[in-house]
Amino acid sequence: MKKLFIILLFVSLYCFGKSPSPKLIVFISIDQMRADYFERYNQYFTGGFNRLFSKGIVYTNADLNYAASETGPGHATLGTGCYPWKSGILANEWVEHKTLKEMYCVSDSTAKSVDSVGGGNSPRNLVVTAVGDWLKQQTPTSKVITASFKDRAAILMGGKNPDYVFWYSKSVGGMVTSDYYSKSLPQWVKTFNASNWPEKNVPAEWSKTLADSDYSKIGPDEYAAEAKRKETTAFPYSFTIGKKAEELGGSPYGDKIIVDFAMDAVKNEKLGQRNVTDLLCISLSNCDYVGHAQGPDSHEMLDLLVNVDRYLGDFFSFLDKNIGKDNYVVALSADHAVCPLPEFNTEFRNVSAKRYIYAADIKPKTDTLNSKLKLELNSSEDILIKNAFINYSAGTKAGLDSIQLEQKVKMGLLSIDAFVDIYFRRELVTREKSDKLFIEKYRNSYYAPRGKDYLYRIRENSIISSRPYGTTHGSPYSYDTHVPLIFWWNNATPKKITREVHSADAAPTLAKFAGFSFPKNLDGVPLKEVVK
Ligand SMILES: [Zn+2]
Repeated sequence: MKKLFIILLFVSLYCFGKSPSPKLIVFISIDQMRADYFERYNQYFTGGFNRLFSKGIVYTNADLNYAASETGPGHATLGTGCYPWKSGILANEWVEHKTLKEMYCVSDSTAKSVDSVGGGNSPRNLVVTAVGDWLKQQTPTSKVITASFKDRAAILMGGKNPDYVFWYSKSVGGMVTSDYYSKSLPQWVKTFNASNWPEKNVPAEWSKTLADSDYSKIGPDEYAAEAKRKETTAFPYSFTIGKKAEELGGSPYGDKIIVDFAMDAVKNEKLGQRNVTDLLCISLSNCDYVGHAQGPDSHEMLDLLVNVDRYLGDFFSFLDKNIGKDNYVVALSADHAVCPLPEFNTEFRNVSAKRYIYAADIKPKTDTLNSKLKLELNSSEDILIKNAFINYSAGTKAGLDSIQLEQKVKMGLLSIDAFVDIYFRRELVTREKSDKLFIEKYRNSYYAPRGKDYLYRIRENSIISSRPYGTTHGSPYSYDTHVPLIFWWNNATPKKITREVHSADAAPTLAKFAGFSFPKNLDGVPLKEVVK
């Protein structure tokens, strides 16, 4: 009778969806990953990307829903479920209003090195909690560990109170942290760092993985608008013995080291192997480096993705074996996407696109505007300060109220070809109805205590660059803000969901999936296709 009762209880719990919490949540960010890579290159994926895309819940219309499409804001939003206006991380770096000094989003002069490496960084500038904090609040014995090639990615996904956060150091050829997190490196991290991973694992050259014909369909390998890597823009790329620790960035091996390290973390910290839910966040950065240098349509990008697909495939097989297929859940998204090389867009897509060189096309013009305004206002002080602030008091002295001065600034800036709209602080700190295009995306990006007096919107499909090659992101356009968002667990019913969702939804969705509570005032919401 007792047996029957237990069986009935089990069946009823199972049928009503009360399956036990996952023992491990794996939260993956692929830095700068465009959502279209999955469809475009699906035929080449046989590993981790393939498992997620063919067997997971795939949101094909996930957007950041804010304008600051950069790494710092992107990872803060993934981790916290809040847009930059709430997380405080409104850019990778900003100018402090009082001191006019630059602030890097994870910089912290009080965070010291650990075992004489790392230091200098912490989540001090993050003003909200993250998914790992919510988990540990409910079950303090849960472990939260994050790892990335980039400090800001690891730190901002990790939240305020994780167990460990690690990022890559070229000089160490391994992983470091700061004393914000711990006073010493765990022994397994010291062992990893002593293993000389780069020299042992980075081969003599990075060469193409697939057949030549798979790459030539995309476009040329040798292309003038690509940044050179070791004096060339074409495969293969050699590595120098003894210098691999500094050369692996911008190649697949910069991601492989993070995935290998993550497996060591699972093994040594017994993640997913105890009676509580643990969280492992991984951010793979080299899609961003390759995207900046060679662009999203390059042979290098396809090859990198094919490699990352394999690394993640190996990683999931490792988890199947060591934790059990039924005991973990994976979410994958990105901090932002990227604009194609303007030259590639013009030549191969017939898209009107432009590269503005900052020193030639922008700076002389904003300098001239500043001089003109100084003259007009009869002011000895600058009117435009650090491309961030407006000298309103100089306006007052000249008899102009703030709106009148802003009007002059706006007219001047909009006469510069690269800019198509200007958003002032007063328009960004309110939620009043406005018919300005993209205003809600800018408002979602605007954390007032750190905000500039004005933001510009760049012409669509164009970039402002310091160099005549490479590309970037940071605009509110969908090529920068449309990101992948996928959830996978064993026996999920595969689905492609086309409604618009946001990267901020990832954190509350994971919390609800694993059964722990999360703050009420998030921007993201749990996604109903993943959690009932
Ligand atoms: Zn980037």
